[in-house]
Amino acid sequence: MKKVVKFGGSSLASAEQFRKVGEIIHSDQGRRFVVPSAPGKRFSEDTKVTDMLYDCYQSAGNAKQLDKKIAAIAERYQEIIDGLSLDLSLAEEFEKIKQAFASHSGSDYAASRGEYLNGIIMASYLGYEFVDAAEVIRFDEDGVFDAELTNDLMQKRLEGLANAVVPGFYGAMEDGTIKTFSRGGSDITGSIVARAVHAELYENWTDVSGFLVTDPHIVENPETIETITYRELRELSYMGATVLHADAIFPLRQEGIPINIKNTNRPQDPGTLIVENTCRQPKFTITGIAGKKGFCAISIEKDMMNSEIGFGRRVLQVFEENGISFEHVPSGIDTLTVLVHQSEFMEKEQQVISGLHRAVNPDMLDLESDLALIAVVGRGMRANRGTAGRIFAALSHANVNVKMIDQGSSELNIIIGVRNDDFERAVKAIYDIFVLTHI
Ligand code: ASP
Repeated sequence: MKKVVKFGGSSLASAEQFRKVGEIIHSDQGRRFVVPSAPGKRFSEDTKVTDMLYDCYQSAGNAKQLDKKIAAIAERYQEIIDGLSLDLSLAEEFEKIKQAFASHSGSDYAASRGEYLNGIIMASYLGYEFVDAAEVIRFDEDGVFDAELTNDLMQKRLEGLANAVVPGFYGAMEDGTIKTFSRGGSDITGSIVARAVHAELYENWTDVSGFLVTDPHIVENPETIETITYRELRELSYMGATVLHADAIFPLRQEGIPINIKNTNRPQDPGTLIVENTCRQPKFTITGIAGKKGFCAISIEKDMMNSEIGFGRRVLQVFEENGISFEHVPSGIDTLTVLVHQSEFMEKEQQVISGLHRAVNPDMLDLESDLALIAVVGRGMRANRGTAGRIFAALSHANVNVKMIDQGSSELNIIIGVRNDDFERAVKAIYDIFVLTHI
């Protein structure tokens, strides 16, 4: 089975971690294409090499500071090289980097060197060919990722190679200017490589054994999700669950390649499998629960609203004109509520209120702030009756007042609005009813 394996920063933070990675790769011949991140944190107060590089680039104008900061970064890599007893010197590379920084090569170039150098070490350690991502990942002149050109370049370059290391996180424009994805972007590189080589599986190795059903800060030791679909994952990620970069899904969707989230420190754990579609029933009715605080509801009431054509459009236009995106718009016969991010809304509040008066002349306009939204997500909800009933019974037992309900038409999710103060209690109550009592 042809696999692409991506290793995150904490999996490559030290020589000891590199050894674990080496063992994982060598234990399966299918693991032919490797995408490394830059070295991450070795312990919780440590600094990621990517952050050291951004900081170092800030000091590019001060030769003394620059020397000192480059030396600290070089030391991180040297520690790994020595720990692995590699016959490799990065001295020349660091000389080039120093000169490029001094001539203001750009912060994207600076950050990308973390993955670039780690890729060189990884290739040397594994005895695999090093393929510079600048050759094969293309951004257009506006800095927008060009998926199709990249796929062509990557396919041609990797064709015929038994194995290779392609560093994550960056690519280049036609003129050679280095460009990075947003933070955590090595996940995207892994997907791009998987698509180009028609991998059967994309393994994304990190420091957790997959996605958890909910936030471990709220529920102690939550269960791990065994299988999740791309769409479910998107719903949960949007609501704040993070393990994988959101843009990593798109290249894989085109090919239907599954992703396996795995733990470098516990390779025996099955992790979470992310798939396009599956007949496998989820272990519980729900797949996951995620949520965010800090929303604000603007409720508009007007008699005969339902017969006024264009009412909703005029309301939303006011938000658009003020540059505010909306999250949900639940409505009744004579009422309509717009839920927005409080932080976006606050500074424009008075303009929006007067705009709404002018646009729709409401009978009443009410604001409620400090709300939280909880997404209960699961493909299993479609086949099960009474899911909503169980959620609301659980919330009522936990003494949580439900402010808003919105069920997506796909029956894949139910969004519930509660007060910020009730958020944790609500998530826990929903988790308990579906997972602990296992119904
Ligand atoms: N090293 C980059 C970061 O820290 C990219 C990555 O690790 O995926 O964001």
